[in-house]
Amino acid sequence: MDRIKEEVLSLKDEVISIRRDIHKHPELGFHEVRTSKLIENYLKDCGIEVKGNVAKTGVVGLIRGKEEGETVMLRADIDALPIEEMNNVSYKSVNKGLMHACGHDGHTAMLMVAAKILSRHRDELKGNVKLIFQPSEEKDPGGAIKMIEEGVMENPKVDKAFGMHLGNMIPAGIIGIKDGVLTAEADRFKIVIKGKGGHGAYPHTSVDPVVIASETVIALQTIVSREVNPIDPIVLTIGKIQSGDVFNVIPENAELLGTVRTLNKKLAQTIPEKIKRISENVAKAFRGSAEVEYHFGYPPLINDEKETKYVIKIAEDVVGKEHVLNVPVSMGGEDMAYFLEKVPGAFFWLGSMNKEKGLDKPHHSAYFDFDEDVLPIGAEMHVKIAMGVLK
Ligand SMILES: [Zn+2]
Ligand SMILES: [Zn+2]
Repeated sequence: MDRIKEEVLSLKDEVISIRRDIHKHPELGFHEVRTSKLIENYLKDCGIEVKGNVAKTGVVGLIRGKEEGETVMLRADIDALPIEEMNNVSYKSVNKGLMHACGHDGHTAMLMVAAKILSRHRDELKGNVKLIFQPSEEKDPGGAIKMIEEGVMENPKVDKAFGMHLGNMIPAGIIGIKDGVLTAEADRFKIVIKGKGGHGAYPHTSVDPVVIASETVIALQTIVSREVNPIDPIVLTIGKIQSGDVFNVIPENAELLGTVRTLNKKLAQTIPEKIKRISENVAKAFRGSAEVEYHFGYPPLINDEKETKYVIKIAEDVVGKEHVLNVPVSMGGEDMAYFLEKVPGAFFWLGSMNKEKGLDKPHHSAYFDFDEDVLPIGAEMHVKIAMGVLK
């Protein structure tokens, strides 16, 4: 066994206990006060230069190597979700209505322990490691863009950026990656339909926004099926419809909330016009009106070809060639994309699903939990990615 693997394994209990501590005390995006204090103190104890309160609750650590060289960014996200945890575990969330249901507790713990190991090896580093503990990944506009605005890519200037996400759709210990687009652009919209309320028994004296909303939901799917080239992936989902209070009253208004996922920015730019045109004209056809608000969210995450090859090489060393997988693109969004718009780098999945242990629930489920045995693997990936660049 090589010395880094040995070192990581000797810290297995530590990485698990940090993860459980963070899991037990989840905090929402830009409110990660306890979590960021924990990170700050830990990094300071490792003798690492630390800057807190970046983008409100983010933390940036800097490990300066013995010699000058490139600066490698390693990034973890630290926020939880507004979900009530249903797991019965000793480290169950004590914060009501909040839960680490995406694995960001694991991301944070892996990067903390990786930082400790890297700080012990700073004499071997030709260049710097910038440790980014990013607040608020789950809620757009997230912490990545805010951290960039506050200058985390400068002083010293970041040359390459890497990050990973635990994945409960992939068996534990498998590393999944692809070059090019890995995750989708994630946009959202709101449609307010105005009708005219009245008695449920006299529809002819009203304009029914519920019927207009229903027609609109169906009509919007023709954007996907009839207006976009079938070889360009796109998803349009209405996640919320709200209208009315009782069974016998035609309401005044209806509201629809939805998301659009695309894999390229050019296509994404064409969608608001389509949603507006269809919504407004469907409403008009039924004597109502519609107003659309459209918001562009996280851009597609693009992995650099060369850096992807580099990560694959490291992964083959860490988990073995047979455990490195070429994965398909995901229609999910990830704000690591903003860092990778600025500098080359790569983002990858670390499989964390273990059916035998019952750890196979999807991300964002109230029953989500992952196989902690993979935490040392993630820490080892971080350490070896950085050390490999700064050799
Ligand atoms: Zn998530
Ligand atoms: Zn996530």
